[in-house]
Amino acid sequence: MGMSGTLTIAATPIGNAGDASARLRDALVEADVIACEDTRKLQRLLNDLSLRTTARFVVYHDVNERKQAPKLVESLVDGKSVLLITDAGTPLISDPGYELIRNAIAADVQVRVLPGPSAALAALTLSGLPPDRFVFEGFLPKKSGARKTRLRDLAGDSRTFIVYETSRNLPRTLQELAEIVEPDRKVFIARELTKVHEEQIRGPLGQVIASLDGRTLKGEVVLVVEGLTRAKRLRPNET
Ligand code: SAM
Repeated sequence: MGMSGTLTIAATPIGNAGDASARLRDALVEADVIACEDTRKLQRLLNDLSLRTTARFVVYHDVNERKQAPKLVESLVDGKSVLLITDAGTPLISDPGYELIRNAIAADVQVRVLPGPSAALAALTLSGLPPDRFVFEGFLPKKSGARKTRLRDLAGDSRTFIVYETSRNLPRTLQELAEIVEPDRKVFIARELTKVHEEQIRGPLGQVIASLDGRTLKGEVVLVVEGLTRAKRLRPNET
């Protein structure tokens, strides 16, 4: 029986191609198989980095994870090296990959990570909010009831919390938060980090909502919210 290949989980830039590590570049060139969410985005990354690869591209996303993971593990067991990336940032962090790493570990395949950009940590470090203890929530549930319950839980915790959002949905989330916390709760909005139109908005929730009134935000955003401090209270639950 031959040696199995290695599964490499690699972070890609969240906007600025300059954030691609030297190890990521090598891995893109050397992999036998690259699993990605979108082959056009992979091709764009390769172009931005002026790289060519002979790797076979495999589409691996939320919808086909369960079907693709065992196939990729077969390739690994056959001795092929598989590189997992996503459209931007760190795989598995609100992105596909969990099914693959689980299958690979179960098959006793070697796994390694090439760490790098992730929007969550990038936003936390810029927020000016306590970074020592934090909760990463990822995307909130879509259904209104579940969202409100989750937001209330998060807002009642003393740790800073991080939420992934679409710019379209951000005003709604801020409004929902305003129904739960006092207007002086500090928030940070990181928009389009490392990109040309990067924007950083910091302040008490009430002021931030007022300053965004009438604006249509575009692009990707991370919302970072101060935890519950001793001097603060949640608003009473009206439902
Ligand atoms: N796995 C990725 C990571 O580690 O950053 C996150 C993938 S998730 C599908 C996409 C979300 O990440 C966006 O909705 C946004 O909340 C956040 N995001 C990604 N890139 C960003 C950027 N350049 N600026 C701000 N937020 C970003």
